[in-house]
Amino acid sequence: MNLPSAHLESLRKSLGNEFDQFAQAYNETPPVSIRINKGKWQGETPSDHVPWSEDGYYLKERPSFTHDPKFHAGWYYVQEASSQFLSHIAKTVFPKDHSLKVLDLCAAPGGKSTLLASELNEEDLLVSNEVIRTRAHILAENSSKWGKPNVVVTNNDPEQFQKLKGFFDVIVVDAPCSGEGLFRRDPELTGEWSEENVNLCSARQRRIVLDIWDSLKEGGILVYSTCTFNAQENEENLEWLASQIGFESVKLEVPKGWNIVESDFGFAQSDNNRSGNKVSGYRFYPHKVKGEGFFVSVLRKTDESEQTGGKEKVLFTPAPSKERNEVSLWLKNPEQFDFIRRGDHVLALPKIHVESVHRLSRLLNCVQYGIPVADAQKGLKPLHELSQSIQLNTSAFHVTELSKDEALKFLAKEDFKVNDSHKGIALMMHDGATLGWMNLLGNRANNLYPKEWRIRRL
Ligand code: SAM
Repeated sequence: MNLPSAHLESLRKSLGNEFDQFAQAYNETPPVSIRINKGKWQGETPSDHVPWSEDGYYLKERPSFTHDPKFHAGWYYVQEASSQFLSHIAKTVFPKDHSLKVLDLCAAPGGKSTLLASELNEEDLLVSNEVIRTRAHILAENSSKWGKPNVVVTNNDPEQFQKLKGFFDVIVVDAPCSGEGLFRRDPELTGEWSEENVNLCSARQRRIVLDIWDSLKEGGILVYSTCTFNAQENEENLEWLASQIGFESVKLEVPKGWNIVESDFGFAQSDNNRSGNKVSGYRFYPHKVKGEGFFVSVLRKTDESEQTGGKEKVLFTPAPSKERNEVSLWLKNPEQFDFIRRGDHVLALPKIHVESVHRLSRLLNCVQYGIPVADAQKGLKPLHELSQSIQLNTSAFHVTELSKDEALKFLAKEDFKVNDSHKGIALMMHDGATLGWMNLLGNRANNLYPKEWRIRRL
């Protein structure tokens, strides 16, 4: 194993006589896994299931995802198996008796957010946040491709959520970390590892949880996860947090056969732990599970929580009725949406979330909310995000079926001759997957696929 010596040393210490098994697994090829989008996927699913994730599957080998139009159309997300454990947490721990407001705080590129979007109901609202602006746009792209309308994508520092006291029922902190658990899959990450960086990560993780704590309701759930083995960023951080904030640790039901290692650490006797309870963490090791390194711990807030903001007047600009009537035809269930104007765009907002979305749009930097349906600058032109939405009413548009080769050219935003005599906007589809729009002009066609999303190398 070509790993930094201080990291190796700490692995040796924590793994004891399992170190050799770990070393052997480290030299094996990492498994490939996907999580399917039930809202889009058609046909058979692969057969090898990720045990803790209803929609997760292992593939026998790594295909070229770039060359699969369905990957670009959001039929599935390529996601490491261990981190899909969030699905089990959502199913067994998230409250089921009321609608939820869920924040995925460190969300780009969108693995956990798309998982949460699948696990949540329509009545729940997901806020997917990413602090780095360029990454927030990638997050918005992946969120659009997943196609759920009850998602708001924001680009804020954790600190800025303090304006939303007691707002969220669930917060997921998939913290930026030293990444030790991913070294097998991405060996070049080892170059960034140093003891100094571990210290930095650990301090940042503590600050992130403290910054976001006030926006969690009393009784709310915080899921803390990392993809590192380093105790300083995992158990030791939670131990420290227990001295700062009030929570009880949630013990998860984990079948023995899954081989996930429960680390009960705690400090029941320590004066520092305000609740006096043990804290449970769950560790995923590549020699024990078919997946990469991962750590997760679930906390239930016992601190009292102030709640700011009550009912407020919604000041979104409604779309004019002419626009509303036209774009209503483009959705499967238009009655469930309010149509509003955001600049030149017409958006469809789920009626049940309008108030919350309005509040978020006032207090945070919202990259995207609802379904961006149409550009209203010169007449109404459907926006790309609509083509990816599970709400798209395909029968409202002319459909052009593309071969796989044509689909890939379309996704690379290349110009090519479309074999279709229709003139005007047409929806490009391939084998049941909705890819986007083209403006057909007779002997030529304008490819309207977003430039930033295009496949760069075919
Ligand atoms: N949850 C993502 C997923 O499943 O696809 C992966 C998240 S990655 C482990 C951590 C994210 O935290 C990165 O996107 C990174 O940009 C972001 N981040 C970095 N520094 C941060 C900070 N100070 N506060 C919040 N997020 C931060």
